[in-house]
Amino acid sequence: RLPRYYKDALAKKQKEFWDYEKLIVKWGKLDDYEVTQKIGRGKYSEVFTGIHCPTNKKCVIKILKPVKKKKIKREIKILQNVSEGPNVVKLLDVLRDPLTKTPCLVFEHINNTDWKTLYPKLALSDIKFYLYQVLKALDYSHSQGIMHRDVKPHNVMIDHEKREVRLIDWGLAEFYHPLTEYNVRVASRHYKGPELLVDDTLYDYALDMWSLGCMLAGITFRKEPFFAGADNVDQLYKIAKVLGTDLLEEYLDAYDLELELEVEQRLGKLPRKQWSSFKTKENAERCTPEALELIDKMLRYDPAARILPKEAMSHAYFEEVRKQK
Ligand code: ATP
Repeated sequence: RLPRYYKDALAKKQKEFWDYEKLIVKWGKLDDYEVTQKIGRGKYSEVFTGIHCPTNKKCVIKILKPVKKKKIKREIKILQNVSEGPNVVKLLDVLRDPLTKTPCLVFEHINNTDWKTLYPKLALSDIKFYLYQVLKALDYSHSQGIMHRDVKPHNVMIDHEKREVRLIDWGLAEFYHPLTEYNVRVASRHYKGPELLVDDTLYDYALDMWSLGCMLAGITFRKEPFFAGADNVDQLYKIAKVLGTDLLEEYLDAYDLELELEVEQRLGKLPRKQWSSFKTKENAERCTPEALELIDKMLRYDPAARILPKEAMSHAYFEEVRKQK
């Protein structure tokens, strides 16, 4: 059981590329930076804007909460590997407080507009443009043997004035090694792929395409999050209410997976809904046949049946974006 693409990405690289536990971090000069303002906090960090004093450049300083050294090394190594890629946030420096030993990551600053403000007012052409930029970042990261595993609106920074997109938060990202079992406790609930919800540990890059598909559906139908589960079981229920239980069963059978009895009973038997049934007066402009077709190709239970980033980029939905270049 292998992904349809980039399965050997890491086999072609030197061991240092993926053997993150051996990473020796070169710490930058803490005194070069000044923290200015708190802009966010997550499960794993507090995030501030800051200034790189020698150049007077604005930056973002992510102060990590105490987590395992191994996880910190993984985030740094992955950032070093993908940071040069298209639409990936640039890692500028890595710092450590000499007293507390707290590590900090320094990034380029993106003048992001919060998605709750931005998404409702986007033109269809903007949606296509921004989605295409995220696909570029994902295709690049997958080509480097890395799955992001936390794609969601919070992690896609958009500077609408400059029309720039950056995929941030590589804290849950992981190297893809063929036939390896991965932790299913990744991604945020509403963006978790079915593979995570049915304990299919042999998942791969295609997970990111499910999460991005949830974003596309959410933006297109003006219903964010599109699958609003209250817990992990309810999350699968919300998915099955749209995709139906027949296709879920097909996916489970194909890979010899089984649902827990409690989950199976909770789901019962559910029919598949047509994507066009989510069309309303309010979202009609965004619900073009191409949009619905692309959503359908991203939101498949079986990861192997999902469209890949490269394939999605050549989908008819993005025709006007491709023409712009
Ligand atoms: P979470 O628990 O939400 O996944 P985290 O602890 O992993 O968060 P990040 O997602 O990296 O941390 O950052 C938290 C928030 O800080 C982001 O959602 C965003 O609002 C802001 N932020 C992070 N990096 C940048 C950046 N380069 N430019 C602008 N804002 C940023």
